[in-house]
Amino acid sequence: MIRATSFQGKSVAVFGLGASGLAAAESLRDGGAIVSAWDDGVAARDAAIARDIPLADLRVADWSAFAAVVLAPGVPLTHPEPHWTVAKARASGVEIIGDIEIFTRERAEHAPGAPFIAITGTNGKSTTTALVSHILRHAGLDVQMGGNIGRPILTLDPPEPGRFHVIEMSSFQIDLTPTLAPTLGVMLNVTADHIDRHGTIENYAAVKERIVQGAEIAAVCIDDDYGLAMLRRRIAVGPAVAFSAKKSLAPGYSLLEDTIVCSNREGLAVKLGSLTGIPTLRGRHNGQNALAAVAAVRECLNALGRSTDLDWQGALSSFPGLPHRLEEIGRLGKALFVNDSKATNADSTEKALGSFQGDIYWIVGGKPKAGGIESLAPYFNRISKAYLIGEAADEFARTLEGKVDFLRSGTLDEAVWAASSDAQASDAAEPVVMLSPACASYDQFRNFEVRGEIFRGLVASLPGIVMRASP
Ligand code: ADP
Repeated sequence: MIRATSFQGKSVAVFGLGASGLAAAESLRDGGAIVSAWDDGVAARDAAIARDIPLADLRVADWSAFAAVVLAPGVPLTHPEPHWTVAKARASGVEIIGDIEIFTRERAEHAPGAPFIAITGTNGKSTTTALVSHILRHAGLDVQMGGNIGRPILTLDPPEPGRFHVIEMSSFQIDLTPTLAPTLGVMLNVTADHIDRHGTIENYAAVKERIVQGAEIAAVCIDDDYGLAMLRRRIAVGPAVAFSAKKSLAPGYSLLEDTIVCSNREGLAVKLGSLTGIPTLRGRHNGQNALAAVAAVRECLNALGRSTDLDWQGALSSFPGLPHRLEEIGRLGKALFVNDSKATNADSTEKALGSFQGDIYWIVGGKPKAGGIESLAPYFNRISKAYLIGEAADEFARTLEGKVDFLRSGTLDEAVWAASSDAQASDAAEPVVMLSPACASYDQFRNFEVRGEIFRGLVASLPGIVMRASP
C-alpha cells in the first residue's frame, strides 16, 4: 500500500468507490489527508464504511474546502458531458486528479529516480504490461505491476530505487494524471475507440500522446499515422525510440519475420529474440506487443545505466500469457483448444483468425456488435466449420451462408461438444477449436471472463483432454 503523503492535512474528495477509488481513499486517509468519499451506489458506499473510509455526500458538500478531487476513471470529464462532480470542482477551482496522479506525486517527492514504465495504446496494453513485467522478473528484478490491469496502483508497494513500477494506463487514467512523467512511456497504437468519452479521435489521440510527451524516454510504435506523428513531435523535444512490426527501422526496433531486432542509425543490428513457436505470443498483433515490451525494458535499463544483457529469448519463451486472449487451454489428441473470450468484437476476432493458418473450428456469437462478422470474410477460408451461439446466430448464419459450413449450436456447451468431435474426425494435422466470439457476452454470460471460464470448464470435461494450467 502506498500512503499519499502529498495531501497530508488537506481535505480531499474521492468520487467513485470501485477498487481504485477505495484504495485512493485509504491511501489518502493513511497519509494524513481529510477524506470525503462518495459513490452514487449503496453497495460501494457500504464497502467504504466496512473499510473505515469517511463518507460525505459530495452533492451537498462545501467544495471550496477541497484541495483536490480524486475521480474514478469511469467518470466523464468532458464527453458526452462533464459529470456533476467535474462541474462542481471547476466551479470551485478544485484540482481534478486520479489515483495514478497520487502515485506520480509520491514518486516525485520520495523516489524521483524510481523506475516507472507506463504503457498505453488502444489495443495490447494488458499483454504488453504483463510481458514487460515478466521480462523484468525473469531478469531477477523487483517489479510491481498494476493500474488498468490487476491491482490498483495505490495498493502496490511504494516506489523506491531499484523497484520497477509497470503500469497500464487507459486514456481516462492519463486524462486524470496531469504530472505524468514515467521513466519510459510506451505508445502502442491508436484506432477509433472510446470516442463517446473523448469527442473525436484527435482528442483521444492527444490524451494518449501525453504518455509520450511526459516520459523521460518515449517508445513509440509508428505502424499507424497517429504514432508516426507523435514520434515526429517527440523527437523535436526529447529522447525517443521507434518500433515497428511492419517495416525495418534503423535506428529502432523491428520485427523481421518473427525475430525482434534492434538497429542503430548505421544499420548495425542485434537480434534479441525470436517469437517462432511461442504459443502465448502468436499473431502479428502480439509481435507488436512483444516488440514494445522488449524495447521498453531495454531502453529503460539503458537509461538507468544497467546491463541490457538479459536472456531475452528465455524471457519471451516463458511468458505465461494472459487468460482469455488466444489462450491455449488444452489438447485432445491432435486438436488444440483456444480460449479467446476477450474478443468481444470482429477486430479482435480478426487477430485470432489471422493467428492460425487454417483448420479452425470456430465458436462464435453472443450479443452482436454493429457490422457483425462481415469484415472477417478474408479469413473464412481458414475456417473448417463455425458453431453459432447466442443472439447473433441468425445474423451470422446469413453472413456465412454459402461461404462457411456452420451449425446453429445455440449454447456454448453444445458448441464445444460438436466442435470437439468434428475436430477429432478431421484429418488436419492440428485442428484448432477456438472460442473467439466477436460479440459481447451478456446475452448468455455475466462478462467475457465468465464466458471464458465456462468454456474452460466445458473443455476440461471432455474425455481424454489434457489441460494447460491457467496463467
Ligand atoms: P488491452 O489491454 O489494450 O485491451 P489486451 O492485451 O488485453 O489489450 O488484448 C485485447 C485484445 O486486443 C486481444 O484479444 C487482441 O484481439 C487485441 N490485440 C492485442 N494486442 C493488439 C495489438 N498490438 N494490436 C491490435 N490488436 C491487439
